[in-house]
Amino acid sequence: ITGATPKEDTTMSNEKHVKVLILGSGPAGLAAALYAARAELEPIVLTGMQLGGQAALTHLIENYPGFPGGVGGAQLGELFQKQAEHFGAKVEFDLANEIDLSQRPYTVKTDSGEYKAETLILSTGATPLHLEVPGEVELTGRGVSYCATCDGWFFKDKKVVVVGGGDSAFEEALFITRYASSVTLIHRREEFRAGAILQNRAKEHPKMNFILNTVVTEAVGTDKLTALKLKNLQTGEESTLETDGLFIFIGHAPNSQMFKGQMEMSDLGYVIVNDKMETSVEGVYAAGEIADPHFRQVITSAGMGAAAAIQATRYLEERESVPS
Ligand code: NAP
Repeated sequence: ITGATPKEDTTMSNEKHVKVLILGSGPAGLAAALYAARAELEPIVLTGMQLGGQAALTHLIENYPGFPGGVGGAQLGELFQKQAEHFGAKVEFDLANEIDLSQRPYTVKTDSGEYKAETLILSTGATPLHLEVPGEVELTGRGVSYCATCDGWFFKDKKVVVVGGGDSAFEEALFITRYASSVTLIHRREEFRAGAILQNRAKEHPKMNFILNTVVTEAVGTDKLTALKLKNLQTGEESTLETDGLFIFIGHAPNSQMFKGQMEMSDLGYVIVNDKMETSVEGVYAAGEIADPHFRQVITSAGMGAAAAIQATRYLEERESVPS
């Protein structure tokens, strides 16, 4: 009786054993949760910093099937969550800090405790890239932003610059025209990556202007952004453009730092998966933008999440059927 160790009890109460642990609550994570829950695996989703992932920061999603009039990003995330929870998934507002894949069950340390997971689905998404020019970091939140849905409202009747030439830049620039008096899109080349529909909408919009073959070299301002220094890449000419806002949409980097050295990754840090969403570690799957440098759509991420959960289910079933 005297051998009872209260210390051990405390540790035990903070340690949860789960069959399927899902890191990240974007479309990939929540779709995985739905499938794993319907397989009665009682998955736990750790939300990370952004419930609903990047999709939740998108004002309107017009290309997710089933919503002919479009659907708000946050609203779609809530629907995903509700559906997964309806079948028994648990969504925890918690952040994974450390992961140990050297032995099963795998250990995931979080802000609030520790999980032992038989299988893991990594769906931690991606983070917007920075321009990495002087003034950018200092003026973030003071005129420099990476999220139009979050910050567009602050630029009512103001002049705004958007940097980038892909779908995100065009989509978000069009969104900001609701508030801003003018939106100038600056792109480093002459051709855009964005789809034709978005390009045409932007080119026809009376509030939109374009500056091509040009990069931002500095964000200028003390308390708040007042201007940008620009450089024309063809002529070398440098100029200054007054602006109240700078929105940067130049792509993303995968949130895979935590798993570095524990599984195969590409040079850019994308987790490498096969066609079954399997990573190089047994029982560990990856889905969505952490493993997808090509498509990055809500539907493709959700599809990858579903596939990862189906494969995790099969893996657990096979293990259970093998007598130990
Ligand atoms: P993206 O397609 O990779 O475009 C990034 C843009 O930023 C490119 O035009 C690139 O220029 C430019 N860029 C990159 N680094 C730069 C730098 N340091 N300085 C200046 N410009 C820089 O990224 P995205 O627009 O975020 O889209 C990512 C993926 O999500 C794409 O597959 C896209 O189709 C998808 N997406 C789809 C939708 C939709 O379907 N409605 C909406 C949003 C995103 P270059 O062109 O010269 O490389």
